[in-house]
Amino acid sequence: MAKKSIPDKICPHCGGMEWDVKTDKRSGRATYYCSQRRKEIDALMRERDKEKVREYKRMWEQNNKEKCNESHRKSYQKHREARLSRRKIYNRLPQSVEKRRERERMSMINLDDNRIKTMLRHQMGVKEIKHKDITPEMVKLKREQLKLYRDVKKEKQNPANS
Ligand SMILES: [Zn+2]
Repeated sequence: MAKKSIPDKICPHCGGMEWDVKTDKRSGRATYYCSQRRKEIDALMRERDKEKVREYKRMWEQNNKEKCNESHRKSYQKHREARLSRRKIYNRLPQSVEKRRERERMSMINLDDNRIKTMLRHQMGVKEIKHKDITPEMVKLKREQLKLYRDVKKEKQNPANS
């Protein structure tokens, strides 16, 4: 709808002269709607519709729980690609890369359980062994082994200290 300011045409309701003009394609006849009044009416309609739509949706959801879950699942699937690509972009951000590196560095220094479990899985076969298959005992042993290696390495680098 085209907007038009017509000084000769004053709205009897609000005294404004801004009009929304709708031209009928076939007859070419124009109809004028006061912009101000149209805005107010639109807002009223939207308010009323919103309440109606909400109520309808609530009722429908209560009566169609199965379908509802199904549609949630579908929309989850539908947006899956978009979500993954957003994540990809996020992961490539310099600050994300930096955070990840720092996390890895710290987990290596602290010899976190999960870190050790990952190492063990790489040694024993990532495909066969899962995190939950690794017992605390195995983690403990591996940690001690790693600590020992570190001490040996340190000693080799600084023989004078020993
Ligand atoms: Zn008006």
